[in-house]
Amino acid sequence: MRNKFLSQLLGSLLVMTATPGLAQAFEEINDTLYLENKLAIHLYQASELADGKRALVSAIELPEESIISIDIHNINSALSDATSSPERIRFPFIPPGKTEITKNSAGFACGFRIVDVMDEDIRSDEIMDRTDLCLSLSDLRVTGALESNGTDALKSFNEFMQEGRLHSMNSLSKYVDRLRAERIEFGVIEKAAVQTVISPIKNCGRGCLTVTSEYGMRNHPVLRRKRLHKGIDLRAATGTSVVSVLDGKVLATRTEKNRRTKRISGYGHYVIVVHPGNKLETLYAHLSGFKSKAGQSVKQGDLIALSGNTGIGTAPHLHFETHIQGKRGYVPANPRSYLGSILSSVAWIANLFKIG
Ligand SMILES: [Zn+2]
Repeated sequence: MRNKFLSQLLGSLLVMTATPGLAQAFEEINDTLYLENKLAIHLYQASELADGKRALVSAIELPEESIISIDIHNINSALSDATSSPERIRFPFIPPGKTEITKNSAGFACGFRIVDVMDEDIRSDEIMDRTDLCLSLSDLRVTGALESNGTDALKSFNEFMQEGRLHSMNSLSKYVDRLRAERIEFGVIEKAAVQTVISPIKNCGRGCLTVTSEYGMRNHPVLRRKRLHKGIDLRAATGTSVVSVLDGKVLATRTEKNRRTKRISGYGHYVIVVHPGNKLETLYAHLSGFKSKAGQSVKQGDLIALSGNTGIGTAPHLHFETHIQGKRGYVPANPRSYLGSILSSVAWIANLFKIG
């Protein structure tokens, strides 16, 4: 367990300290478009069928008000292909509840990831780690764009959604091309400010921050099932100030409710912040109150919320997640990779024995 943990940590350090050349910088350009769906939609994944044929099959019915993301380049090429070469995106697929392959007319865009879904069971499912999910272009019409790295791209996408025509996508194409050229010319990737993550709990750093539950597989204390705990739990009395660990932008402030009883459950009140300069997303859960709004720019250390005990939990604490940007999108990573230097060495050793 210890070796696995150390190799995870080394992996994260390598990612953080890598100084890519221009060729690599080109590969790593990733401008994320975040979308929220107004109605339930199906996400598909490519599968090989029993007879050896391949088709997209329904991977999940995503409830309304989820957040999905995709690289702007992926959505741009899919929407452009919809008019110029539709055969390229009309993949054979099997509609939900059917067994026969059907041809589709709208086409699909692929490369989606589920960023957030207000359903505990889905949130703990492996589907959340995939970055290759597909969405029928006809379903794009029930999505709305949230804050994104590229405001020009966001504007083009919104025009496309409102007018339902592809002409506005030309400006998105131009934007993407310009962005690539600029980034390669000036090496923006290398110049991006990389800050060190600070404690998400205000004025509580080394010697103060206490881990009450680690990232990793665990028996859920309330639900009594084994599932991946995607964050780290930090002791915090209700009403403690929670701050953004890096410069960034608040993507969403949300409240998870049980879909049947409508009572607050799961993550309770929570905030998601994106930090494009540091290639991270962070999530802060079980809050007692919000002190920030979606779309708001925040500096490292800015107050974003108050901690609490909303949702499913045993005692007041802050549940803190880090999602690291990989080649194909953001994936959950152990927050210890970032908080290691802040957490005291005694807690560090004690927690190593508690894991697994
Ligand atoms: Zn937690």
